[in-house]
Amino acid sequence: MQYAMLFDDNASNFTKIYCSCGRIVNIDRKSCSVKRKLHKTIECAVCRNLRIGRELDLLDEHYSVPEQSVYD
Ligand SMILES: [Zn+2]
Repeated sequence: MQYAMLFDDNASNFTKIYCSCGRIVNIDRKSCSVKRKLHKTIECAVCRNLRIGRELDLLDEHYSVPEQSVYD
């Protein structure tokens, strides 16, 4: 009985969320609730990669000094 109570409705540790891009993402409930507590956006892998890519671009812009470029 106790074992059964650990698993609610669909007997899954995963829950479905809608990403802002419209994709439905399976996310495990633990990390979902952690992210909600931290007020982090829950997003799909695609959006996550895009966001990280944008952040890396911003970092590049921020730290690149054209006069001292190591790529020249
Ligand atoms: Zn998305």
